[in-house]
Amino acid sequence: MTIGISMAERVRTLEGSPTLALAAKAKALLKAGKPVIDLSAGEPDFPTPEPIKQAGIRAIHDNRTVYTPASGIPELRAAIAQDLTTRQGVSYEPSQVLVTSGAKHALYNAFQALCDPGDEVIIFAPYWVSYPAQVHLAGGRARIVATTEAQGYQPDLKAIQAALTPRTKAIVLNSPSNPTGALMERERLQAIARLAMERGIMIISDEIYDRLVYPPAQACSLLQAEPSAAAHTLIVNGVSKTYSMTGWRIGYIAGPKPLVEAMGALQSHSTSNPTSISQYAALAAFTQPIPDVAAMLHEFHQRRDRFVGGLNQLPGLSCFMPGGAFYAWCNITQLGQPAAVIAARWLEDIFVVGVPGEGFGSADYIRFSFAASSHSLQEGLARLASWLRQQKAAA
Ligand code: PMP
Ligand code: GLU
Repeated sequence: MTIGISMAERVRTLEGSPTLALAAKAKALLKAGKPVIDLSAGEPDFPTPEPIKQAGIRAIHDNRTVYTPASGIPELRAAIAQDLTTRQGVSYEPSQVLVTSGAKHALYNAFQALCDPGDEVIIFAPYWVSYPAQVHLAGGRARIVATTEAQGYQPDLKAIQAALTPRTKAIVLNSPSNPTGALMERERLQAIARLAMERGIMIISDEIYDRLVYPPAQACSLLQAEPSAAAHTLIVNGVSKTYSMTGWRIGYIAGPKPLVEAMGALQSHSTSNPTSISQYAALAAFTQPIPDVAAMLHEFHQRRDRFVGGLNQLPGLSCFMPGGAFYAWCNITQLGQPAAVIAARWLEDIFVVGVPGEGFGSADYIRFSFAASSHSLQEGLARLASWLRQQKAAA
């Protein structure tokens, strides 16, 4: 039905998140009885740890079910500031922390607060799908700077310098990265931090996977590399991945007070506070011991080794060994067709769901999430192996 309404330019060409769309499609197929192996969304398959669930339940019983301050409950802002101070080695005040409805919302606030129409934001490809979309929604322009598998996905400083213009407002960093799982090297972080300080631009450091790092790999945050860049840094993080709390929708952004206040004002006119119950649950994550975190990390580590190792044994596929996060960024160039075509065939022929790389800025890769059961991962590998054998036989 045509409704004859002319929509705003900002949404006219906007497509929904491909990761979420594919995850929804996989769930629908599964419900329809198809033997789906869903390796699409990056979502831990563990239940939320018990002390966190209990804190949420207690919040309901205690009637903490009303509006909170729009920027978050003071206890949670203080707990996050304390955690940042300890882990980043830079002092944070509660007033420098804004609690948001997930890290995605924190990023949304950041781009809205920084970009005037035509302003530019440097984003490294492969990138997480929502960065360019969110910059566009803020009226800004995403300046994509490529990184390569051969360089371990480390951005090239000269390429960054070449992409800078008088309109550049920010550089987005994501280490460990979605979709590659690469960790940025300390020297590279330092160099980018110094460049940002020299040019007076902000760095948005999305650190949502900072606790999902597989030894001997070690995460280094931007501020651990260059503490003096704090005035030019917005740190984005949240509880979704580390604590298996994707549905609770709690993230945060921390940085210079005037920017945090501006984002708080923006939030007070858009979402108001993040869900009160979820905030109390998240408070438990920051203030109580949660042994499940180490256990989940151990499990992800084993899955990574088996799954990425398994992909690398399949003829026609190769996969970068991710140091963190829970994604296998699988190189499919040898198959001779773009990722969207191959991913669609895997879905149709063997019901294995990976996210085609086009949404992340590369048609040569398919992203698998290994935040899925060991059984699914093993079965996925087996089906891929037999599909590749059949292709070879038919060729
Ligand atoms: N940043 C990155 C790189 C992500 O992969 C995700 C995944 N959801 C997010 C931000 C947002 O996380 P959430 O909104 O669930 O906190
Ligand atoms: N970030 C996760 C992913 O990349 C969840 C989906 C989303 O938030 O878009 O799969």
